[in-house]
Amino acid sequence: MRQLARSALRPYVCPSCQRGVLAGRRRFASKADNVPEVYDVVCVGGGPAGLGLLAALRASPVTSKLKVALVESQDLSKGRTWSLEPRLYSNRVSSLTPSSVAFLERIGAWQHVDSSRTQPYHEMQVWDGETGSRITFDWTVETSPFEDPRIVATMTENANLVRALLTRIFSLGEEGVSIFSNTTVSSIENGTDYADGPDLSAWPVLSLSPSASAASQPPSRIAARLLIGADGINSPVRTFAGIATDGWDYNRHGIVATLSLSEPATQPFPAGLKTAYQRFLPALGGPIALLPLPNNHATLVWSTTVENAAYLKSLPPNAFIAMVNAAFRLSGTDLRYMLRLEPTARSSTADISQHEDELNWRLQHTPQPSHIPPPVTAVQDRSVASFPLRFRHTSTYISPRVALVGDAAHVVHPLAGQGLNLGLGDVASLSGTIEYAVRHGMDIGDILSLERYPHERYAVNAKVGAVCDLLHKLYNVPGQGPVTWARSLGLDLIDKVPFAKGFLMRQAN
Ligand SMILES: Cc1cc2nc3c(=O)[nH]c(=O)nc-3n(C[C@H](O)[C@H](O)[C@H](O)COP(=O)(O)OP(=O)(O)OC[C@H]3O[C@@H](n4cnc5c(N)ncnc54)[C@H](O)[C@@H]3O)c2cc1C
Repeated sequence: MRQLARSALRPYVCPSCQRGVLAGRRRFASKADNVPEVYDVVCVGGGPAGLGLLAALRASPVTSKLKVALVESQDLSKGRTWSLEPRLYSNRVSSLTPSSVAFLERIGAWQHVDSSRTQPYHEMQVWDGETGSRITFDWTVETSPFEDPRIVATMTENANLVRALLTRIFSLGEEGVSIFSNTTVSSIENGTDYADGPDLSAWPVLSLSPSASAASQPPSRIAARLLIGADGINSPVRTFAGIATDGWDYNRHGIVATLSLSEPATQPFPAGLKTAYQRFLPALGGPIALLPLPNNHATLVWSTTVENAAYLKSLPPNAFIAMVNAAFRLSGTDLRYMLRLEPTARSSTADISQHEDELNWRLQHTPQPSHIPPPVTAVQDRSVASFPLRFRHTSTYISPRVALVGDAAHVVHPLAGQGLNLGLGDVASLSGTIEYAVRHGMDIGDILSLERYPHERYAVNAKVGAVCDLLHKLYNVPGQGPVTWARSLGLDLIDKVPFAKGFLMRQAN
């Protein structure tokens, strides 16, 4: 894996290279080109999905002998040495379901996750900010009083997971694996039938460019028996394969932040068992979720309109904290009023900002339910950020010699915390599919060898994406009307029928 060390100094994605990828679809290489280095598997993208796939292939005795390469335009050496002080947390955190954790354990990666920075939670309180109707997700519906309550999900910083996956990959030895870090795929084309060499005319051939400063280094070319696109929402591999993608932008942003709480986010359970909270706010364009991290910390995911997101990001810390506390406690009318206040900090003459003042006054006139989170007391410096929310699903996950995984294949609304879990599900299925093909002496790039993968994953991903989309749409209808009535009845009903609730929870696991 010398390439990682050699190219680790170039953390820049060249925009012209990206254009080259899009324009270079299915072009033919000139006969004069040198024969590219041939790999069994080339994975483009070293996010959690791509690294998960590489770790899975390397960990299996059946596929560990394959010659594999991973190309990532960012600097993976930074991912390998990532570290933060114990009291600080990254703002990119995912709730990993028990099946995702079980898969990561199976490939030997979870053992490398720093568990002192992860936080399992056993219960999730979800309620409608408009009607107050509520559902509690916890495994007490399925477990006996004598069993330990089961985990709903485990909050894990994406960087903690990426570091663990890299550690696992490196622990499995260097033979047969090339990691091209800080390297951008600048074009992908079909290969050539070399007169004195292999016939690569039906194989994808990738041109690689250093991402930044070492522009003098000639781009290398590599060919793939099987090319895997783990390259995110704008997947160059998907474009090369001509796989169509459909979807829409929600015109919403997800605000994330790392928060400190006045006390641990525990609810009716005994000490140590943590709770996650989500309140749907139809008047503001989406739900606000507060998910527990260790040591009285929590991560925020607040889906809201682009205008609200810009406003919230412009607030000084004390006003931002007041808005988050208000969003779990006040009515839609109160919140809309507070979103129009001047975004001012505490002044020298007043020790309280306008937002805090409004919150305190309005709380006196608003009855509080018992299932709200503890008050937020601080927001970690520079942790407030926002991401556009989108829905995408490709028409298929495979084409000859190509397979797509993770966000390259599907992007879902984050309200159910499922995006990365779906990606890890893809990785488990595709690595199993490749393993089966190798075991039975099949060509791993042949479409017949790959067919099992979309068969296992397409409908599952489509269902989860559709449910998230439906929930987003249902909870974006403010006011009193049939939709509001139906959704409140639905939540109350599901909450009171253990069988229905257990079914929903199993779907999310
Ligand atoms: C606000 C928010 C909250 C979320 N919360 C959750 C949650 O709680 N649980 C959950 O499961 N999911 C969650 N998600 C979704 C989750 O973050 C994503 O699904 C996941 O990170 C996607 O991983 P990936 O590896 O498929 O893609 P990415 O992380 O996008 O990785 C793609 C990689 O490909 C590389 N790349 C792209 N083009 C090239 C090229 N030409 N050459 C070389 N490399 C290239 C990129 O640099 C990148 O590293 C959330 C998303 C958002 C926005």
